[in-house]
Amino acid sequence: MARRKMIYEGKAKIIYEGPEPGTVVQYFKDDATAFNAEKHAVVEGKGVLNNRLSEHFMTGLNAIGVPTHFIRRLNMREQLVRAVEIIPLEVVVRNVAAGSMAKRLGIEEGTSLPRPIVEFYYKDDALNDPMVTEEHAIAFGWASQPDLDEMISLALRVNDFLSGVMFGVGIKLVDFKIEIGRIFDGDFQRLIVADEISPDSCRLWDIETGEKLDKDVFRRDLGNLADAYTEVATRLGVMPKKSGSGNGPKLVH
Ligand code: UDP
Repeated sequence: MARRKMIYEGKAKIIYEGPEPGTVVQYFKDDATAFNAEKHAVVEGKGVLNNRLSEHFMTGLNAIGVPTHFIRRLNMREQLVRAVEIIPLEVVVRNVAAGSMAKRLGIEEGTSLPRPIVEFYYKDDALNDPMVTEEHAIAFGWASQPDLDEMISLALRVNDFLSGVMFGVGIKLVDFKIEIGRIFDGDFQRLIVADEISPDSCRLWDIETGEKLDKDVFRRDLGNLADAYTEVATRLGVMPKKSGSGNGPKLVH
């Protein structure tokens, strides 16, 4: 079969032309990067896990009326999604102080926040994705005030949904990042959740033990990243339990 035409290759995903207008194919790679790609490794199976996990979260969001780009999964590593114009702002929502915010403001990691905090970061690797305010976004034409209001509303709805889903399997949603895209219906534009939602873009802590089940395992050399993501996928029922755990078919040697 002729290979699809590549549109864009990022650090963790490749975007190919879709089979019909207005669609693209999102391919999940096994590459793990951190600190603006200064740290890189290939983690076998990560792409498969993130494809399934992102499908799970986006399908759930679609079902409760939060619009996303997700159409359907195509295979182990690929999903069909709506083509969007990505707004060049990463939207981060935080429930608990961690990572860059804990460091910047001198707050101990793990401190619960009195309310969710939404932040914007300008997507520019050369500048290391600097944090920006709504004023910058409007002044430089990245998003309008109504866009930003809609983005905050979408991000908070994703936060409520994901927090609940994670709580149901004993995981605390500390923070996460989403990207939002524009689609055009004639003269009208709509904003929808795009890119991916996976342990690559969330901080997930076991509620009982505090164990990290997200990309910090890689960033901070805490263990095997694929094992952590498998744990999340297994708890959510997205992946079958590992062979040897008593359920499902056993590998015969
Ligand atoms: N995040 C992400 N991509 C980025 C930066 C951050 O997915 O380029 C996610 C990160 O995994 C975490 C949240 O956004 O869940 C907040 O990240 P933070 O600002 O604390 O930065 P970090 O400590 O990851 O550098």
